Amino acid sequence: MNQVELQKSSEGYSIATVGDIASFEGKAFVKDILNTTSMEVSFGTLAPGCTVPFFHHHKQNEEVYVVLSGEGVFILDGKEEPVTSGSIVRVAPSVSRNTKCTGTVPLVYICIQAKAGSLEQYTMGDGVVEQ
Ligand code: ZN
Repeated sequence: MNQVELQKSSEGYSIATVGDIASFEGKAFVKDILNTTSMEVSFGTLAPGCTVPFFHHHKQNEEVYVVLSGEGVFILDGKEEPVTSGSIVRVAPSVSRNTKCTGTVPLVYICIQAKAGSLEQYTMGDGVVEQ
């Protein structure tokens, strides 16, 4: 299921939308729509009481989950870690993971995955301030 709509694509940038984030449901990946080359980003929601239907880990990508709203639990190598709006969770590739919504409203989050160890420059080390 992919609910991302491409709005604009040019040589240097792409703009897409998942629509109203508050009413977004399910899971949507943006890599193929935005043509990203170093990361995958997805939007995910879990309804109250729901758990992702599988545990998984990765071969080479680490993930960062940013919880936008709701309350839940991340199950990381068997440990339950509570999360809520504003939580940011980094998960190493080999860690088994799952997510559960434990609140009364949907758990809404963004997941960013990129190859572990691939970041060479960042912020002002990579940014070039233009006059
Ligand atoms: Zn994953």
